[in-house]
Amino acid sequence: MDVFYTKLDAHIQSLNEKFRAKYLIKREMYEDIILVLRDGWGSPQFRFWVQKNFLLVKVGDLNMVYNNHKISRPVVVYEEVYAKLSECHNRVGHHGRDKTWHEVKSQYFWIPYDVVIIPSTY
Ligand SMILES: [Zn+2]
Repeated sequence: MDVFYTKLDAHIQSLNEKFRAKYLIKREMYEDIILVLRDGWGSPQFRFWVQKNFLLVKVGDLNMVYNNHKISRPVVVYEEVYAKLSECHNRVGHHGRDKTWHEVKSQYFWIPYDVVIIPSTY
């Protein structure tokens, strides 16, 4: 897992600066997204981006962020991306990237393809 995040961080650093912050959503930004959706908090620019992409879903007492499309799936934060990839990889029977990617896309939102193809041992 540490190796995975080392590679992931290196990949994020290699991206153009303007894409880095929202390439994966860190826990802190996830909480800010909830504030926008629940309380209308935030700068106009951030609110616009949030409202365009996300939806607040209440699961019990928990506020969760889903994508704002016809088929809604939960957003995965940076901190959980390894666990979710590992879970998807296991669910498809340790088959290759394509099957894992397909599973990731059908279950979750905001995990870029480049993250799925980072070599790792699940
Ligand atoms: Zn495996």
